[in-house]
Amino acid sequence: MGNLLTISFSLFCLLGITTCTHRWVAHPQGVPGYEKCNVWQDDIQMLKIPGFELSYIVVQDCFSAPREKVSIAMMVFLDVWKKHHSQFSFEEVEDQLNETLIEFSDQTKRINGYDRDGNYIQNAKISGLTITKGMVWVRLRPGELLCESSLAHELIHVAIWANKKTDADPDHLGTKYDGWDQTKELVLQETNKRLCELGI
Ligand SMILES: [Zn+2]
Repeated sequence: MGNLLTISFSLFCLLGITTCTHRWVAHPQGVPGYEKCNVWQDDIQMLKIPGFELSYIVVQDCFSAPREKVSIAMMVFLDVWKKHHSQFSFEEVEDQLNETLIEFSDQTKRINGYDRDGNYIQNAKISGLTITKGMVWVRLRPGELLCESSLAHELIHVAIWANKKTDADPDHLGTKYDGWDQTKELVLQETNKRLCELGI
């Protein structure tokens, strides 16, 4: 009886551990080997984002931001954007997301910039940055989900830049630049909510 209890307990633990450490894993089919992340490579890698023509991610390893996850995140973002914007705006944003480079790293970066309400802050610690109209950096710490990162926030900057042509509205809800409004806040919330529900 004692042995049986031990076995049951061990089995329970094993099941528990399997559940606790369960990871979101994609099993892509029909993908050429050169497109896949090389787990043995001890250096940064640039990988194509599936479903987006000329878009790539730059990653430090194969596990923190799998390209399949990033692809779904971008599709969800586009879907939410479309719901709240005109067809014309959507098409411009879609075109831009088809040629975008996203770098993920767990670095700490500081810049002079604006907070959410448009206050200028010097040497602010940032969690993401839109560098050009088609290039962003997103800080991603080990174990962090994309919905917890600044990815959707940076995609909004990219989208504003695609629509406005001149800038990405760096001061957010501030009044110096325009573009970022309550609709963008809604897109941000909805996108991240849907991604978190997907475990992405
Ligand atoms: Zn921003």
